[in-house]
Amino acid sequence: MEHGKQVYEGKAKIIYETDNPDYYIQFFKDDASAFNAKKLGTIESKGVFNNSISSRLLQEVERQGVPTHFVEKLSEREMLVKKLDIILVEVVLRNIIAGSLAKRMGVEEGARLPNTIVDLHLKNDELDDPLINEDTAVAFGLATREELAQMREYAFKVNDILTSFFSERNIDLVDFKLEFGRCAAEGGKLLLGDEITPDGCRFWEKGTGRKLDKDRFRRDLGQVEDAYAEVEKLVIE
Ligand code: UDP
Repeated sequence: MEHGKQVYEGKAKIIYETDNPDYYIQFFKDDASAFNAKKLGTIESKGVFNNSISSRLLQEVERQGVPTHFVEKLSEREMLVKKLDIILVEVVLRNIIAGSLAKRMGVEEGARLPNTIVDLHLKNDELDDPLINEDTAVAFGLATREELAQMREYAFKVNDILTSFFSERNIDLVDFKLEFGRCAAEGGKLLLGDEITPDGCRFWEKGTGRKLDKDRFRRDLGQVEDAYAEVEKLVIE
């Protein structure tokens, strides 16, 4: 399928129109950003790995009952997706303490949480994606209570699916970010959108804690490309 006009260019992806008004093409770039675009770089072939990883994982969660925007993988870097009106609330799930949670709570990374935490963030780079809560999201018209409840339910389901998927591959799913949107072509139905990749998930090898995600780039740990390639390999197999 030929892509049409560019609709949007983000940090890691470009969205194009297609000849079907209900579909977009997501093109995965090699560009990487961290700390809300304060650190920029490229990760060789990241777009190819992420398209492959996300295609596989979105198919898996869809198969297990979470509706997503995924239609099909078109090429190395292109994915056909359903057009969504993205909800500007990022949903972060946490199973193990890491990143901003460790910082916010003044604790070390690494401990498993007694219960999974759901954090909501406003999707706004200029404001550094501030932490918000459900009342704030509703008060500012970002989503309805019903949508937020549905997002939470889907997010927990995705967590269950991916935790066991990665556990079988000797990986701990530490935390991850999801985005949802409304699909006008399906009567405003809530679908999981965006991507599921090492850019937005933390993956630690069981036992060793070796990081296989964007923290290798954020923290200059080296072997960044190798980590993405390794995740792609184990996801595809
Ligand atoms: N995350 C993301 N986009 C963001 C913020 C976080 O994809 O704008 C992901 C991140 O990769 C991690 C999880 O959400 O898997 C939790 O991130 P955290 O809040 O700890 O923030 P960070 O430490 O990445 O700043």
